Amino acid sequence: MLRFLQNYPHFLELVYAGLLRVLRPLRRWLRPGGRLEPPLIWLERVGKGAVFDCQMCGQCILHSTGMTCPMTCPKNLRNGPCGGVRSNGRCEVKPEMGCIWVQAYERAQKMPVSGHELHVIQPPLNRRLEGSASWINMLHGLDTVVPKGWLPDDPPAP
Ligand code: SF4
Repeated sequence: MLRFLQNYPHFLELVYAGLLRVLRPLRRWLRPGGRLEPPLIWLERVGKGAVFDCQMCGQCILHSTGMTCPMTCPKNLRNGPCGGVRSNGRCEVKPEMGCIWVQAYERAQKMPVSGHELHVIQPPLNRRLEGSASWINMLHGLDTVVPKGWLPDDPPAP
């Protein structure tokens, strides 16, 4: 419905940063599993659903992916593109859709603040956060917890 807004990633990144600035001082009230989480989940589902086709992964990285939701990739790739993107920029799984990583790249070029974050390697998705409020997870650092053995200096996972 509001997907056309994705054509204005420079505007969206400012809106998103402003929203997080508003939420940050409310951190002590916005707790995982707290009473305020359900309304935030609703807000994300409706708002980000309308603009980004948000899949409620609970670990939002929109600002690192050209304000393009990586979970709309049929392979759910958080670090893309895969090797199958077609020469016309279409998806190999669903040729009727454009590769979201091509879109992410093009949109990131228009984002002066966080466009460079497209080069950051994203950690594996924590599926336990699915359906929760990504804004709350971000305020409490839950979205940056990575599995043991993932960071270069970590001992290997058992
Ligand atoms: S990255 Fe996750 S939280 Fe962000 S828009 Fe996509 S599914 Fe929603």
